[in-house]
Amino acid sequence: MEQTFIMVKPDGVQRGLVGEIISRFEKKGFYLKGMKLMEVDRKFAEKHYADLSAKPFFNSLVEYIISGPVVAMIWAGKNVVTTGRKIIGATNPSESAPGTIRGDFAVEVGRNVIHGSDSVENAKKEIALWFPDGAVNWESSLRPWIYE
Ligand code: UDP
Ligand code: MG
Repeated sequence: MEQTFIMVKPDGVQRGLVGEIISRFEKKGFYLKGMKLMEVDRKFAEKHYADLSAKPFFNSLVEYIISGPVVAMIWAGKNVVTTGRKIIGATNPSESAPGTIRGDFAVEVGRNVIHGSDSVENAKKEIALWFPDGAVNWESSLRPWIYE
């Protein structure tokens, strides 16, 4: 099954949104395959966001990500990368639809609560970076009730 990397950013952890976010992915029918609360250092955050290193907001983005603990997760399921991005909502919360995580819980682009991989290829890279030991290998016994 396809996997994606999801991270509750420091503002999401501080605001007590971890449970709500997990709940939305669980209820949809995706499977949690890895999770850890961790603080990352500058070098690690820069590596995670390496593709954005030329952007004017890069430094403030890195400061934001290292400002407190984050919850790193692997989620699995059919089309989980694309659907995960839909659950999260548009990058800028002023454009995220109500019903999405950012649309419901965020106001500013630099405090947008959650990260999700934007492609299967990047999901693989991000999972390898954040979970060098890989995912937990388990399968829900309810799977036939969600997947045909
Ligand atoms: N970001 C920002 N200002 C911008 C664009 C992005 O602070 O103008 C931050 C924002 O927190 C975003 C992150 O940088 O989530 C990564 O940007 P990306 O374009 O990859 O958006 P995402 O994939 O998170 O929706
Ligand atoms: Mg991105």
